Amino acid sequence: MLPSRKTRRKGRPMVKQELLDILCCPKCKGDLAYKPADGTLTCKKCGKVYKVKDDIPIMLVEEDER
Ligand SMILES: [Zn+2]
Repeated sequence: MLPSRKTRRKGRPMVKQELLDILCCPKCKGDLAYKPADGTLTCKKCGKVYKVKDDIPIMLVEEDER
């Protein structure tokens, strides 16, 4: 049996597909790949990884990567 779409497991962030559709990398505007198991969004273009906290993607570009 597959779990219902409305079922939310604790500790596993779930980002809505419609939200993923409008999100892009703030750094390079590339597409993001969502990894629910990791709770991360990875930019397909520049490889930047964004964390998802409380179902909200944290789209912060840190300036300390030089
Ligand atoms: Zn990017």
